[in-house]
Amino acid sequence: MTYKCGRCGKTFEMEDLKLIPSIMCPFCGYRVVYKIRPPIAKKVKAV
Ligand SMILES: [Zn+2]
Repeated sequence: MTYKCGRCGKTFEMEDLKLIPSIMCPFCGYRVVYKIRPPIAKKVKAV
């Protein structure tokens, strides 16, 4: 799962938030992070 810091805006990989109740940004220590939906690799057949 990828998260984005609410302050410095950096993104980082982290396990699910449920497992880490005290998640914080590893760069600035800010405790408000946003979950980023990973790009879904759809198999689209190019016509
Ligand atoms: Zn940060």
